[in-house]
Amino acid sequence: MGITRRQFFGWMGAAIGSQVSLHKDANAASNKHFTGYPGSMGVLHDISQCIGCRKCETACNKVNSLLPPERPFDDLSVMDQKRRPHANTYTIVNRFDQPDRQLPVFVKKQCNHCKEPACVSACFVKALKKSKTGAVVYDDSLCVGCRYCMIACPFDIPAYEYDNPFTPEVTKCTLCQPRILNGQLPGCVEICPKEALTFGTRDELIQIARQRIKNYPDRYVNHIYGEHEMGGCNWLYISNTPFADLGMREDLGITPAPQLTSGALAAVPVVVSLWVVFITGIHAISKRKEQMAADEKQADVGRVLKSEQARLTETVAKLKEKAKEEKEAAVKREVKKALDEAAKQARKTVSDPKALKTPSETPHTENQESE
Ligand code: SF4
Ligand code: SF4
Ligand code: SF4
Repeated sequence: MGITRRQFFGWMGAAIGSQVSLHKDANAASNKHFTGYPGSMGVLHDISQCIGCRKCETACNKVNSLLPPERPFDDLSVMDQKRRPHANTYTIVNRFDQPDRQLPVFVKKQCNHCKEPACVSACFVKALKKSKTGAVVYDDSLCVGCRYCMIACPFDIPAYEYDNPFTPEVTKCTLCQPRILNGQLPGCVEICPKEALTFGTRDELIQIARQRIKNYPDRYVNHIYGEHEMGGCNWLYISNTPFADLGMREDLGITPAPQLTSGALAAVPVVVSLWVVFITGIHAISKRKEQMAADEKQADVGRVLKSEQARLTETVAKLKEKAKEEKEAAVKREVKKALDEAAKQARKTVSDPKALKTPSETPHTENQESE
């Protein structure tokens, strides 16, 4: 079992209470050796329990308000191809058919929320940070779009919104940071019908994983993936199949990414500084261009509106004129009709004088006789 609700809220109090120091510490974490936050949270994926239902993908899409996928979540044939997370999909489940077994094996893939993340150490503007909760979080307002994080990540996770021309962002699983700060489970963990996903403190999850491997040595490979890989991750895995057969890299070693890169970066401080200035300058120019494009677009809209307004005024005036002419024509038609009728009546009277009753021919009334 994962963490209890009571334990969870206890941990939450401590986490929220230290939000101020968190920000400072997280920044520091990206630049020097850092061994992870004690008591941070994570998820244990028990691959042997996963049935490949893709409910976790559905929940992730919903809780993150992502666009609907091209093919529905209940279409399991998408797993005929190996997939990776992309801009609109923070997690995917891949199927691995096993030649010696009837049933395939399913593996959920998302950000592993490394304890000492390569993406964080590669991000010189600190748009990516390791949070005290365990989540590696992203601040789009700081991102300059260099995409070094994508190159640095050994698990091929961060994606980029190439389809978004004006405000593209790097996207990846957030460990549902907003939900866990709100006392909720990550969306994927909450929905998983097989409890293939367990949320808890990283330390507790390692204990659970060890216990399962010990209790069922015939079922599990004796390896907790993410316990030590690249210095350790907050997302952990246990499996009934060797990880190498499931497309999971076992060649990463246990040295955290910042330690691997710090020597090289320290050796070229001037280049790095200049590179930062260069990239920041490019970003500023790019932002300025975006602003100019937006201004020009706004001016174009104004011009179009003005010309449309003039065209409309002219059309309304023409319509009014036309209505006036039509009204006058209708009046003329009615007058002509009345005149024609009168002329017709006159012609009839002339050809038949009896039809015209003069006063002398009118019979006398009693009153007239008495006069
Ligand atoms: S919801 Fe659970 S069982 Fe279903 S695919 Fe995701 S991890 Fe596997
Ligand atoms: S898995 Fe990749 S994106 Fe996620 S924290 Fe690690 S290095 Fe960063
Ligand atoms: S933790 Fe949240 S963001 Fe990450 S895969 Fe699960 S639902 Fe998606």
